Amino acid sequence: MKTRIRRFLKYSFFISLLILVIGLLLPENGQMPVKGATTADYHPETFWYYPWGKSGTHKGMDIFAEKGTPIHPTVGGIVIATGEIGMGGKYVLVLGPKWRIHYYAHLDEIKTSGMSYVTKSTVIGTVGNTGNAAGKPPHLHYSIITAIPYFWKADDEPQGWKKMFFLNPIEHI
Ligand SMILES: [Zn+2]
Repeated sequence: MKTRIRRFLKYSFFISLLILVIGLLLPENGQMPVKGATTADYHPETFWYYPWGKSGTHKGMDIFAEKGTPIHPTVGGIVIATGEIGMGGKYVLVLGPKWRIHYYAHLDEIKTSGMSYVTKSTVIGTVGNTGNAAGKPPHLHYSIITAIPYFWKADDEPQGWKKMFFLNPIEHI
């Protein structure tokens, strides 16, 4: 009995490790998530901008566009959540390659649902100003959060330790 449990644990461990490694090896090749947007539609220093309201620092990028502009995911993946929250408004979370979670917020409309598989050509929603973007020009807030902490990315900036998790999206699109 004991050896069977041990064998099962060993098997589960290697399967988990395999899944982890496959996830890490998947290529990313990000793209601009807002249809027709260019580098002129976001501020080059938008990431970790300080001070930034309630959040303290800006843990993503804001891409400005007309309300209703389609949003495509920067990378393909699985939608792990959609919904509406106070700060982000209507949002979509996509789990993509390398165990990175992609957060799209302030959407006008959500056009996908949980557990859907999305590609770079899927429309997951449209640009809006929901949540704490209400009354501001419509824009997509986009963040990338790594589930595996990158300890070497932490620095002395305000909340700099959180850079273990929040990656600069500009470097990934
Ligand atoms: Zn933002």
